[in-house]
Amino acid sequence: MATNSDASTHELVIIGSGPAAWTAAIYAGRANLNPVVYEGEPVGIDLPGGQLMLTTDIENFPGFPEPISGPALMDRMKEQALRYGVRVESELIVEADLSARPFRLRPNYGAPITAHAIIIATGAKAKWIGLENELRLAQIGGGVSACAVCDGALPHFRNKVLAVVGGGDTAMEEATYLTKFASEVVVIHRRDSFRASKAMAGRVLSHPKIRVLWNTQVVDVLGSDVIEGVRLRDTVTGAERDLDVGGLFVAIGHEPNTGFLKGQLATTPHGYLVTTPGRTVTSIPGVFAAGDVIDDYYRQAITSAGTGCMAALEAERWLAHHGVGESPVLEPSVAETVVMVASDAE
Ligand code: FAD
Ligand code: NAP
Repeated sequence: MATNSDASTHELVIIGSGPAAWTAAIYAGRANLNPVVYEGEPVGIDLPGGQLMLTTDIENFPGFPEPISGPALMDRMKEQALRYGVRVESELIVEADLSARPFRLRPNYGAPITAHAIIIATGAKAKWIGLENELRLAQIGGGVSACAVCDGALPHFRNKVLAVVGGGDTAMEEATYLTKFASEVVVIHRRDSFRASKAMAGRVLSHPKIRVLWNTQVVDVLGSDVIEGVRLRDTVTGAERDLDVGGLFVAIGHEPNTGFLKGQLATTPHGYLVTTPGRTVTSIPGVFAAGDVIDDYYRQAITSAGTGCMAALEAERWLAHHGVGESPVLEPSVAETVVMVASDAE
């Protein structure tokens, strides 16, 4: 490989600390790639360990017939990775130079590092309204969530009036999904029309269990241990009133954690990293991506773990093909495969 590296260049650096990063670390550690994981650091309510640090019971991760808490699941994934010689650095990568190999990465505090291959598993953030009690109750499992598919079926939300904030496709999807469990779903939207697609908005507007409050903003979340209601403000008149609810689902969008890449990799219009379909190869050979940072559709722990596994296997094979590491699997890199397919087609 074209290189100005020295012995201090890492074979593989994994950036992130959710299910995708730890799964990639387990596979890469077992493949003797000596991976270094940059797990990030606490920033506001975001913690190393990723989005599951913000939730209580996980009921849909296979292998756990009894619910396991989000932080406990992440601890176990990290512990499993540590068994295979994975090194962990507890800081953010704040800058990357992917213009030449080895790639250069700048941690928040430590000296810059270089790496032959990188797996980006920095995940995404659910956007929150930003109210103090909203974030506090979300953290303690007090009935505020940003994921209906994850939390909607929990006993806490059954047969209650549930509020959904937002007017996009995510809010429509969450509201429709929650009708399975709620006695009533109230969609709260700050304008007088939805941004969502006609089909999904139509489903909400015609659903007998869903009521829409137009021109309405949530300005406070009420309750100390568990949500009891929301304070609403009419965006036209400014009038305020309280609404009793047993749950609040904030569905105002997600944001992938890609700021530190400063546009060096191809993204979708919403900023998610683009990979070759069915693979984890990004637009730069040697840089792989996994988890929610490439996925605005499934957004689940198990799918993130799945693509984390794929990224590690692809990185291992790519490194072997470029003379780094011990993998016996020598296959053309995907970039080369794509070029071959393109030229075959001509
Ligand atoms: P994330 O979990 O998003 O973690 C990535 C982490 O990497 C970041 O949080 C940060 O700590 C670190 N990082 C980011 N940038 C950098 C950087 N520059 N340098 C170093 N580190 C960095 N899914 C389920 O399957 N079941 C559930 O029950 C469930 N419940 C959920 C409940 C809530 C409230 C939320 C918000 C999500 C839930 N999900 C659930 C979805 C699930 O959490 C995500 O799909 C999954 O965590 C995504 O994993 P990931 O590995 O892509 O990264
Ligand atoms: P989005 O389209 O950006 O919609 C976000 C919604 O939240 C908007 O209605 C916005 O209001 C509202 N909002 C934003 N900030 C707010 C705040 N602080 N307080 C109150 N409301 C706020 O995001 P999305 O719904 O997550 O969709 C993102 C993309 O994914 C879209 O392209 C969407 O089509 C796609 N998607 C598709 C599907 C599907 O097809 N199955 C499902 C989910 C998402 P305004 O309208 O006033 O701006």
